[in-house]
Amino acid sequence: MNDLLRILYLEDDLLDAELIKHKLQSEGLDCDVTLVTGKKAFESKFNQEIYDLVLLDFNLPDYDGMSALKYARRKRSETPIIIISGTIGEEGAVECLKAGANDYVLKQGLQRLGVAVRRALKEKAEYTARREAEIIAGNEKLFSDTMIESLPGIFYFFNDQGKFLRWNRNFGIISGYSDEEIARMHPLDFFLDGEKQLVAQRIGMVFEKGDSTVEASFVAKSGKLTPYFFTGRKVIYNGLQCLVGIGVDVAERKLAEHELRIAATAFEAQEGMMVTDANQIILRVNSSFTKITGYMPDEVIGKTPAVLSSGQHDAEFFKNMWKSLKTDSYWHGEIWNRRKNGDVYPEWLNISAVSDADGKITHYVGSFFDVTKSKAAEEKIEHLAFYDSLTSLPNRVLLRDRLQHTYAASARYPNHYALLFVDIDNFKILNDTKGHNFGDLLLVEVASRLQASIREIDTVARLGGDEFVVLLEKLSTNAQEAAAMSEVVGEKILYSLSQPFWLDGYEHHSSASIGISLFRKQEVSVDELLKRSDTAMYQAKAAGRNTLRFYDPAMQELLEIRTLLERDLRRALAENQFQLYYQMQVYHNGHILAAEVLLRWLHPERGLIAPIEFIPLAEETGLIIPIGQWVLETACAQLKDWESDKNTRYLRLAINVSARQFHQKNFVDSVRETLLRYRVDPDRLDLELTESLVLDNIDEAIDKMHALKSIGVRFSMDDFGTGYSSLSYLTRLPLDQLKIDQSFVHNIGVKQSDAVIVQTIIGMANNLGMEVIAEGVETEAQREFLEKHGCPVCQGFLFGKPVPIAEFEAELKTVELDLDR
Ligand code: C2E
Ligand code: MG
Ligand code: MG
Repeated sequence: MNDLLRILYLEDDLLDAELIKHKLQSEGLDCDVTLVTGKKAFESKFNQEIYDLVLLDFNLPDYDGMSALKYARRKRSETPIIIISGTIGEEGAVECLKAGANDYVLKQGLQRLGVAVRRALKEKAEYTARREAEIIAGNEKLFSDTMIESLPGIFYFFNDQGKFLRWNRNFGIISGYSDEEIARMHPLDFFLDGEKQLVAQRIGMVFEKGDSTVEASFVAKSGKLTPYFFTGRKVIYNGLQCLVGIGVDVAERKLAEHELRIAATAFEAQEGMMVTDANQIILRVNSSFTKITGYMPDEVIGKTPAVLSSGQHDAEFFKNMWKSLKTDSYWHGEIWNRRKNGDVYPEWLNISAVSDADGKITHYVGSFFDVTKSKAAEEKIEHLAFYDSLTSLPNRVLLRDRLQHTYAASARYPNHYALLFVDIDNFKILNDTKGHNFGDLLLVEVASRLQASIREIDTVARLGGDEFVVLLEKLSTNAQEAAAMSEVVGEKILYSLSQPFWLDGYEHHSSASIGISLFRKQEVSVDELLKRSDTAMYQAKAAGRNTLRFYDPAMQELLEIRTLLERDLRRALAENQFQLYYQMQVYHNGHILAAEVLLRWLHPERGLIAPIEFIPLAEETGLIIPIGQWVLETACAQLKDWESDKNTRYLRLAINVSARQFHQKNFVDSVRETLLRYRVDPDRLDLELTESLVLDNIDEAIDKMHALKSIGVRFSMDDFGTGYSSLSYLTRLPLDQLKIDQSFVHNIGVKQSDAVIVQTIIGMANNLGMEVIAEGVETEAQREFLEKHGCPVCQGFLFGKPVPIAEFEAELKTVELDLDR
């Protein structure tokens, strides 16, 4: 309480009022006087404010001091009240005192005013002290003890000086102080220095405004801090200004709040977050969600996560996801989603199902992060680990890996594979004289040339330095052919690397040495394989560089022969080394119907070479095309020649057509054109096809055969019975003749099942309205069997071997011609 006396003064005479104020001042009483002149103003001021003293004029025009006095005392106020008036007589004065006035001062006797005021204030102070003591002692029934003791928190009641008047037992228990100690303490003693100011300000607010709250740490005697929420309300009790309130422990709530704050912070983390209800309706997303997906919260809330679907996952994928959410309440994995802008991106997604106490799923919480960047990093790391940094080719590690795979695969395929070890000749010299940068430029260029030399399924790797390895996959099933194929690639590489390089403006000439080893079905280990290719490569170096060598010496030899053969074959046509042999086809009575022309190569050094030795090579190199054309033309010329002689004009010639030849786009045209050019009757010509040739592409075969058939050309199915022997295709082909393969004929009388096949083929031909001929007939017994079972036409040594035209024509003269046909 400050020393300024707050006085409420009811007075209608302003002059009197001034006089009184002056008097109080002259008495040494510092006053703050609020002057009111009527009932309304008095009552409202009296109710709203607290005054140290009330002065009442007795006679007012519409009010009076007695009524005001009674009003104040009715309000149970203990504020000292002094009546000031003109004469009201002894009786009036007694009545005032009875009604509760502290004193009565005559306007005419104002010299008493100071004494009266001082006495009234003293009485009030004594009364207050007495009351406070009563409250402290608990004799005052202001509070119900049961009530304050049953409060969950601490209870306190202190006056505007901070003197504790009442508190509950909890206060003592929680603070750790005894009642004596608390009685001497100030409320601010229970707070940390840092919080004292805040608490004091809130207490002040209670006394000024009526109530306030504060949250602060309550400091116990032990030093233990507990977060408390305090309330305070001003009460005026018998004129005492006090604060009554309770404090509750908010440690738990604070903790919960703290957790909520953590959760909220976590929700706004780097990860995209999405909360859906049990029906997958999105309830909430965070800002990272927006950052990653491009969708604002209001664009997705209320929808399902399907808005993010990229369409990259099938129903099975989601089925599994839901299954694991149901069983484990959890799923995580990589998923491709679509951003608002349409980009599809990979994200790592965790989904947790949130269940209520009964185990029923109420929400799903999904958190995800965009793994586009880490995927790119992963790929980069992989690239560093498995690829050569200079050339970007697979490195030794990846090569081994590919080889292992190839090994695993090769167990299932009968094909051969080849490993080529490519080493640049004199690379070291280049490096030493022109510098490493120059060497690097060469290696990069070599790498790209190597890659250009292989098929897509093959692999080029750099082992380091100037060593490269080429892995050729799935070559031929035939070792010799596989070797030839890898040699072709090797030669291609040698050629490509012998072309000039332009390095940094300089022209550079280089070459390489290649070692090749073939493998199949895990015959040797990867290391052994590399070693073999390496060994072969050193042999290539020893052989003078810019060349290739095979690991297997025998293979090497075969290849050399083949290489020579190919070289010679290219010259054979131009140098007229081919010759046609003629072998007659006869009726059982010995009449000659036709002849098959069979190709021979008269090699200048090696003599006569059978077709089996060079036809496959001619096929592979494409030389069969001009060779086949030569056979056709030679046969046509012969037919033309025979036309002029009545003894020979009935003869037909059969020629063998190879697959590559037949599959030529212009095959039909070139046959037709040749026949026209030689003006030969097309039905004198028999084209022998094989089953495999026809079955390569049966529709193409049918078309081509029909086209030629339409001008009269005849077709014979050679080596019949050795192929696929599907009846259905036979009926679709416009064939004139089936030619029973010589292997069956050979076994007549030897192998019963083959004899049965011969009979079957004959029956089949008869049923389909085709002619039938047996080839390789060598014995009279075979001939007899064939004739007996309905095949009277034969070809074989029994009648005549394939011979040059001169000999054949000589033979013609010795046998009877079948002039009936
Ligand atoms: P092919 O068409 O089945 O020819 C029949 C083969 O059987 C011929 O072998 C012939 O000499 C042989 N031969 C004939 N009668 C007998 C016999 O009684 N006993 C035995 N053991 N063999 C007999 P050649 O001349 O060595 O021809 C082999 C194959 O070369 C031919 O089989 C044919 O597929 C192919 N060929 C021959 N000439 C040509 C040609 O000009 N072009 C094409 N593309 N292939 C040809
Ligand atoms: Mg033939
Ligand atoms: Mg044949």
